[in-house]
Amino acid sequence: MNAADDLDTITERWAALAEAAGTRPVTGWPPVMGVALILNAEQREEHAAERADTAPDAPGPRPVPVDVDVLDVMRTIEDGLCTTADWLASRVQRPPLGAATGRGWSDDVHRQALLLAAKDGADPRRWSYRGERTAPAAAEWLALRVRAAAGPFRALDVGELEAVAKVAAMGAALIARALGEERRRVPVPHPCPTCGGQLLVEGGDGQPPVVRCEDCGRAWKDRTAA
Ligand SMILES: [Zn+2]
Repeated sequence: MNAADDLDTITERWAALAEAAGTRPVTGWPPVMGVALILNAEQREEHAAERADTAPDAPGPRPVPVDVDVLDVMRTIEDGLCTTADWLASRVQRPPLGAATGRGWSDDVHRQALLLAAKDGADPRRWSYRGERTAPAAAEWLALRVRAAAGPFRALDVGELEAVAKVAAMGAALIARALGEERRRVPVPHPCPTCGGQLLVEGGDGQPPVVRCEDCGRAWKDRTAA
């Protein structure tokens, strides 16, 4: 993934992230299937009983409706992108043209110079330090700079490109993790039926999950997943 792709990912996934922050934490991990596949009937009943205990009407503390982790991720990405845009703009964005005013000049050239200076200063392609300081706005602006889009800017040097790429990669990775799209490995609280070793369930990235024994290497796949 290059910096521009990572920035596009951030822009495209931001709405999904906001949705995740406003609703419940991403669940469905680890996949129930992984455990259910290797349990015998008796264990399966126990497991069902355990899950029944966590029914929505069960007594006990309720989960908070806002996912604090996702909000933290959003704040981190937004701060990082806006700070990077401020820093990059201070380096590569040409200051607005100035025009001498207030001496009573009213000739055509002076009038045109004033108009040009005002237009240049208000160029919407400029990063506005006091403008919309959101992650998508900053990501879009940075992606245009990385792609060397036209405007009152000079080309980015290698160090600037690397700095933007680093922030973009971090943001894209944080989003993937927050949305539960990263492949993860979680221990399964049941011994391997073959050797009694430690089982791990792998998945969460959209690929079919796999249960694998760390010790003998035996693996189980979810046959119900297409
Ligand atoms: Zn094993």
